[in-house]
Amino acid sequence: MKTKLIAITAALLATTVAYAGEPIWDGNKVQMVSEKLDQGVYAYYAADARELNAKGGAAATSGGLIVGSKGALLIDTMLNQRLNKQVQELSRQLGGKQILYAVNTSSHGDHSYGNMYLPATVKIVQHAVTRQYIAGHLEDDKAFMVKNFGSGRGIEHIKARSPDIVVAAGSTVSLDLGDKKVDIIDFGFGQTGGDLWVWEPQSKVLWTGNPVIASKPALPWLLDGRLVETLETLKKVYAFLPADAKIIPGHGVAMQREDLQWHIQYLETIRNKVQAAVNEGLTLEQTVQRTAMPEFGGYALFGWVHPGLNVPAAYRDLSKK
Ligand SMILES: [Zn+2]
Repeated sequence: MKTKLIAITAALLATTVAYAGEPIWDGNKVQMVSEKLDQGVYAYYAADARELNAKGGAAATSGGLIVGSKGALLIDTMLNQRLNKQVQELSRQLGGKQILYAVNTSSHGDHSYGNMYLPATVKIVQHAVTRQYIAGHLEDDKAFMVKNFGSGRGIEHIKARSPDIVVAAGSTVSLDLGDKKVDIIDFGFGQTGGDLWVWEPQSKVLWTGNPVIASKPALPWLLDGRLVETLETLKKVYAFLPADAKIIPGHGVAMQREDLQWHIQYLETIRNKVQAAVNEGLTLEQTVQRTAMPEFGGYALFGWVHPGLNVPAAYRDLSKK
């Protein structure tokens, strides 16, 4: 069964590369811009992210900067040297404070490969699961990233840089930037198990990394499975946020708290449909056919992430006795 699932996923991954005939987005072309959300609080995203989000396309990695009286905290370090340089340059322009910390919201290369290009004085913040994954799997991860984002995009040169601050499973680390305190939170399994969420309480801004890719019609990519836990985590995040919070997703522009309902309802619908299929004793293939869910279409990668990742993830979760 496991072999079959892997074969299906591999076939669908191959389809994705064929779907565009080129990288999902091009790390040699993306231009990062900043948006001021509050005093000393900035989102970073690709110049075309708003347009791509609106039409269900796949935008490059988002991140941001929080500037306090003592120094700054960078959220996500980007795919390659070129994009890391762009976020360092934006950070120099926005208040000119030294970067004290850089948080990786996950081990995914587009959120962490730039670590090696930051000054040695910057403290890298990672979840314990992210540290462990990168220590054991960086070469596999680079191969996966080259396959989906292309060769010649700087991925080949990446070397791991060990974290200075490790966030233990289920915990929160608070970092002091002087007049601002930032919470780095593990809300539970979001996409990789090493998912960190960055919360700035004064401006009420939450950075999510990949567990929230972008607003509707974008959907989660459950590359490591575990749909049921991911749903619980998103509900926990929704309950945590005040009604007027802003969300900076992993690949898009700012969202509102209520925008999370799209993702929650999508995962709940899969869970309910797949539970019914499992109760009837259907196979994975029959369940994928039964769970087409065109009402959640519109995302360019729907044909890959929905039947290839998310429905199989629910099937595995709910078939466990
Ligand atoms: Zn990402």
